Amino acid sequence: MGDNAVALSECPHCHTTVFPKYDGTCPACRRNTRDLRGADTDKTSVTLAEQEPLPPVCLLCGHETDRTRKVACSYKSERDENAPGTGLAVMAMITGLFMGLLLLLATSPSPNVLMMRVPLCRRCRLKKKEHVRHVDFPNRQMTFLAHRVFRDRLQERRASTGDMDRPGSPAGRVDKPAPRLPDGSGH
Ligand SMILES: [Zn+2]
Ligand SMILES: [Zn+2]
Repeated sequence: MGDNAVALSECPHCHTTVFPKYDGTCPACRRNTRDLRGADTDKTSVTLAEQEPLPPVCLLCGHETDRTRKVACSYKSERDENAPGTGLAVMAMITGLFMGLLLLLATSPSPNVLMMRVPLCRRCRLKKKEHVRHVDFPNRQMTFLAHRVFRDRLQERRASTGDMDRPGSPAGRVDKPAPRLPDGSGH
């Protein structure tokens, strides 16, 4: 990059996208973004849109999986605050115990509820944590702390279907057909 320009980047410690200070300090967690000791560099923040097709790769560990899990977040509006960005999201894990909730959510869509199905392998499902970092209700997006392999596969998928829902890709552009990924079985 240029001279002393401070670029917007993801902190390797807290995975928040920040403008680090000139000495590299992350304004969010105050650790040094240039010092990778102790950082989980396998993880990265990934923002997923509602209904977005996702690769068959575990969100948390990056292994191939055809298992998915629903994650539902509801906007806590007890005080009816008008600032969605500062609102706390309450995450409800949809397990067998919460099938009633699931049905409720599915039958009564609300702008204050966001539900997504994310790929999680058998082992990671047991962790009961999808690492939801942020929920953007107005834009119908959730940000997860995901494995880099998942992020990379997602980007490949977005690139190959880019003309459908990625606003940044020019409509008239002719892309090479994406190479078929070796994703195991057929249908
Ligand atoms: Zn940080
Ligand atoms: Zn996994």
